[in-house]
Amino acid sequence: MDYKGFSTDSLMFITTRPDLVFERGRGAYLYDQHGKAYLDFVQGWAVNCLGHCPPEISEALVNQAGQLINPSPAFYNGPMIELAGLLTANSCFDRVFFANTGAEANEGAIKLARKWGRVHKDGAYEIITFDHSFHGRTLATMSASGKDGWDTLYAPQVPGFPKATYNDLASVEALIGPDTVAVMLEPVQGEGGVIPADPSFMSALRELTRERGILLIVDEVQSGMGRTGTLFAYQHSGITPDIMTLAKGIGGGVPLAALLAREEICCFVPGDQGGTYNGNPLMAAVGVAIMKRIANPDFLADVVAKGNYLSRRLLELSARHGLCGERGCGLLRALVLDDGRGPKIVAAAQLLQPMGLLLNSPRPNLLRFMPALNVAESEIDQMIALLDGLLTIDLG
Ligand SMILES: *Cc1c(COP(=O)(O)O)cnc(C)c1O
Repeated sequence: MDYKGFSTDSLMFITTRPDLVFERGRGAYLYDQHGKAYLDFVQGWAVNCLGHCPPEISEALVNQAGQLINPSPAFYNGPMIELAGLLTANSCFDRVFFANTGAEANEGAIKLARKWGRVHKDGAYEIITFDHSFHGRTLATMSASGKDGWDTLYAPQVPGFPKATYNDLASVEALIGPDTVAVMLEPVQGEGGVIPADPSFMSALRELTRERGILLIVDEVQSGMGRTGTLFAYQHSGITPDIMTLAKGIGGGVPLAALLAREEICCFVPGDQGGTYNGNPLMAAVGVAIMKRIANPDFLADVVAKGNYLSRRLLELSARHGLCGERGCGLLRALVLDDGRGPKIVAAAQLLQPMGLLLNSPRPNLLRFMPALNVAESEIDQMIALLDGLLTIDLG
C-alpha cells in the first residue's frame, strides 16, 4: 500500500496487516488515514492503561523532554529514583532495575535467578516454566515460553527451561531437581488465552518453592499495573514472590519495563547487568505519572467495578448467543466462543461502518478484551452492542 508517497513494502514483512494507518488516538478511540473512528479494546496490546494520549503522559513527556532526556545509565536521574521508590513502596520488593521491554525485563529475571543460583545454590540454573506461557521474543524468553512450535523455531533453544502444567502443583514438583533454581509463571496467562492461576495454586507454589529453597518469579508484564484489579496480580493470593517483572501498563504506551526483587535476592555486581537506555528519565517520568494515577485505592476499586460490569455484559452475550461463557480477572477478560470464528470476528469488527471495533483473538475460540483501565461503562456498552451484531450475522 502507498501512504503519502511512501510504500509499506519498505517495512520488513513480519505479519499481515490491514490497509489501515492509524494517525490519531484519544481515550478509547483510534482514527485511521480516512478519518474513520475505531472503538479500541486492544489498546496497544494491553499497554495503554489510561487510553490513547492521556494528558498525564503527554505532559510528562513534554516536561521531561524539555529538562533532560538521557544523561547515560552511568548516572542517577530524578525520575528513575522516584519511580523505583513508588514501585518498592507499593509492593513486597526492595529494589528495581529498569528495562525497555517485557522480554528484556524477563531476560534480567532469568539472569538474576541464574546468578543467585551460582552464588547461593551450587550453580543451579534451571527455571521451571509452564505450557502455553508467554515470556517474550528474545532467544532465552522464547525458550522459557511454552508456545506451540517455539521449541523448534530458531533452534537450538537456550537450555534450562523445563515445562510444567499450569495449575498442577504435582507437575512442578516432579521437575524439581538439584539444578533447579526457580519457578517462573504469569499469575494470569495472557497470550495463552486469559487463564488465571488458582489462588490456592499460587500459595501452594510459594510454599513448595520456599521448602525447596528455590525462587518464585512472577511475570506480571500483562497482569501487573492494576490490570486485574489489584496493583499486582500476585496480591490476589497474598503471597510474597522473590522476583517480579513489569512492562506494558507501566509505560502506558511508551517503552518502559522493570525487574523487581527482594533485597536478599539482589546479587548483581558491576558488569553483570545494564543497558544504554535503562532507567532513562524520559520513559521513567511517564512511569511516575502512571504510578501516581494507578496506585490509588479508588482507581483500583473502579477497575474491579468495570471488570465486573464487563464480565456481566459478556455473560449476557454468551447466554443470548449460546456461547461458552467468559473468564478472566479485572479488565483482562475473554469470551469463550462455541467454535473457531474468533479471527473472522476480529476482521469483520474492523470493517464495521461507520465506526470500527478493535478486538483480539489469541486463540480461534476466544476473544480477548484489554481495554484501558479507565474505560467508561458507556464504552463497554458500545462494544457489547457492536459485538452482539457481529455474533448475529453469518461470517461465512
Ligand atoms: C507481552 C508480554 C511479554 C513481552 O513483552 P514485550 O514488551 O513485548 O517484550 C512478556 N510476558 C508477558 C506475560 C507478556 O504479556
